[in-house]
Amino acid sequence: MTITILCPNLRCRAVLSVPDKVRGRKVRCSQCGTAFAIPAASPNPGKPAKEKPAPSE
Ligand SMILES: [Zn+2]
Repeated sequence: MTITILCPNLRCRAVLSVPDKVRGRKVRCSQCGTAFAIPAASPNPGKPAKEKPAPSE
């Protein structure tokens, strides 16, 4: 499984696919060479947690 993450370098903004085993570690952008840490949590914002069941009306 891979993580899709945006390069934090605002002049680059490359979309990188990295293996999820690098979470919590540093990777280097293949486009600009910026080294940055992959967050341990999921980098997908706005994805609602699937905990509450939808109310049926
Ligand atoms: Zn980059």
